[in-house]
Amino acid sequence: MTLVDSHCHLDDSKFDDDREQAIERALAAGVTRMLAIGTADGPPDLEVAIRLAERYPFIYATIGVHPHDAAKASEETFARLRELAAHPKVIAIGEIGLDYHYDFSPRDVQRAVFDRQLAIAADAAKPIVIHTREAWDDTLVHITALPHGGIMHCFTGDSVQARQALDLGFHISFGGVLTFPKAEGLREASRIVPDDRILVETDCPYLAPVPHRGKRNEPAFVVETARRLAAERETTTEAIAELTTRNFERLCLR
Ligand SMILES: [Zn+2]
Ligand SMILES: [Zn+2]
Repeated sequence: MTLVDSHCHLDDSKFDDDREQAIERALAAGVTRMLAIGTADGPPDLEVAIRLAERYPFIYATIGVHPHDAAKASEETFARLRELAAHPKVIAIGEIGLDYHYDFSPRDVQRAVFDRQLAIAADAAKPIVIHTREAWDDTLVHITALPHGGIMHCFTGDSVQARQALDLGFHISFGGVLTFPKAEGLREASRIVPDDRILVETDCPYLAPVPHRGKRNEPAFVVETARRLAAERETTTEAIAELTTRNFERLCLR
């Protein structure tokens, strides 16, 4: 069985003491590919994931400005993102979107930076990785087209929102929240997503799945989310591993 962790923050300082071992544990658990998210603390450093991807053949990278850091973006940032989008290991633009929960950047700035990055992704012909929190309707308003596909990362909505995202052409990525006791609406959504639109992720170091909940998350734990997804969809973990791997390849490794 091989799995892809389609969203991990391996650059995070919480991995500074054992990054190498965490990657080894992932490989030992069958997590043979990881998508490192390049947002980190925002501009000016846009290359945290690229540095990892250059060291490990099985790690891929995204680039982008997280909505939290939108206020740090400048024209120089967008120009650099355009250049980096051509890097052979950069397979998607993200995580980009809107976060009205924390409001770390003003909402109008978040929306403007989101639009700029949607244009960069379209020009680079890369899929997008969306972060949206308490901003669902506004997020969808900005996505008028999805020419190269996209991922709703760490999806926590219900089946109505899942249907909206699917209708736009998105892949839906499930993380550790799927295993949380109160996430019944999310589990219901996980049962209606077609086989060819599902992904799994950790979003590590955050949101560790049960039975690791409350601990630091790491890519190896994506197996727990795949197992829960299999139970919800009345299939095997192996089948979930196979189809999510195929979906990742089709969407991101073209
Ligand atoms: Zn996110
Ligand atoms: Zn993330």
